[in-house]
Amino acid sequence: MLRSALAEEVNKRLLLLVGAVGLIGSVLTGVAGGSLAVLQANRDVATQADQISQSVSTILQLEATLPERQAALQLYRNQPLFRQSDVLNAVLVLDASGRTILSSRQALLNRSIQDLRRISMFREADTQRRIDCFLARNSSAASPTSKPCELEGHPFHWPWETTQMAFREVQLFQFGIDPKRSRYLILISLGTQSTNSGVLHLVLLMVISSALILGLMLWSLTWALRRQLLPGLQQLAETDGLTALANRRNFMDLSQQALLQAEVSQTSHVLAIIDIDHFKRINDQHGHLAGDAVLRQLADILRDGLRDSDLVARLGGEEFALLLRCNAVMADEVLERLRDSVEFSECFWDDTLIPVTISLGAAATEHLGFDLDYLYAAADASLYRAKSEGRNCIRWATAREHDPERDSWTTRLAIQA
Ligand code: GH3
Ligand code: MG
Ligand code: MG
Repeated sequence: MLRSALAEEVNKRLLLLVGAVGLIGSVLTGVAGGSLAVLQANRDVATQADQISQSVSTILQLEATLPERQAALQLYRNQPLFRQSDVLNAVLVLDASGRTILSSRQALLNRSIQDLRRISMFREADTQRRIDCFLARNSSAASPTSKPCELEGHPFHWPWETTQMAFREVQLFQFGIDPKRSRYLILISLGTQSTNSGVLHLVLLMVISSALILGLMLWSLTWALRRQLLPGLQQLAETDGLTALANRRNFMDLSQQALLQAEVSQTSHVLAIIDIDHFKRINDQHGHLAGDAVLRQLADILRDGLRDSDLVARLGGEEFALLLRCNAVMADEVLERLRDSVEFSECFWDDTLIPVTISLGAAATEHLGFDLDYLYAAADASLYRAKSEGRNCIRWATAREHDPERDSWTTRLAIQA
């Protein structure tokens, strides 16, 4: 089956477009979804840190001894909620001198700040900075003009980080104690694996669902375009407006495909070029509209006189082309019949009979092979000969000897009547 080059090109480009838009759309949706999920994860970290620090402040304010508060913190840490989801790795409370007065991990209790700095959990630059900030603010040397520093909050949480530190300062109002000495820093270490996998799942879900939705939408759009738009475009791009025959480009595309297939199956084909004789005279004598009517009538004769397996086109002006699926002997009969039909057709314009004849140049694959350009040049050269030998006749081409007067293609051909 011969396929239109335009349709194939449009299909190919639409497919590329759909693929590119689908891919970019899915990636963008994934990035947008991922960003939202990361922001949400950061808000979650802040909320968790707030809740935990509130509970720890309550424990700090208990009318109790330090070991009793420590036991209360241990109880809080061991709640089933924390054990299941592992959101709380550890929680520590530093006093103004930098010593741990409460810790969910027994081993970290009553440690100096120098000891803590050596532990990997506290080695992060951001953690060190915030601890320094807390100590500087609450040291006896601190003055109201001391440089402000960031203490509370948490560094931005990226989804590939498995732990997250959060910091809250609490002030206990204890009677008779310097307010600076009653400030405490709560350090909260959160495990974020479950949050991270939530982010990853959301991104994956968004990418997959947007790829599906976009793919479906684009595919339906493409399908609608192909059904609605392509036939009209194809009609415009591939047919001649005056005669509704195929145009030159379409003819060349289809002939190329037909000849490639014919070469494989060794099926004879004949390429013929037709030119109306003294067409300029018809235009001059009867007007351009009459000329157009002659062109349309010739198109009808050609269309009616050929089989479905043959190709017919208007190459431009008053030139037409045929690709007949038969050998030279049969083609000669067909072409002769066409020439005859044109000569004896009655084309009237304003009640005046316009005599019309055509000249034909033909080239057969059985003589010249299946190369389209070569066949075309040969048929064109034969047409030239038909014109010079009296018009209203058919001339056949055979490859034989040089004719230096013709162009580069036709130098390989000699025209034989
Ligand atoms: P020959 O027998 O050697 O082919 O002579 P000719 O007069 O047919 O050829 P020529 O190339 O001198 O003239 C072709 C004319 O066809 C010139 C041009 O105005 C006319 N023509 C080209 N396209 C159209 C068209 O679409 N409509 C009409 N009416 N005339 C056209
Ligand atoms: Mg011409
Ligand atoms: Mg002509």
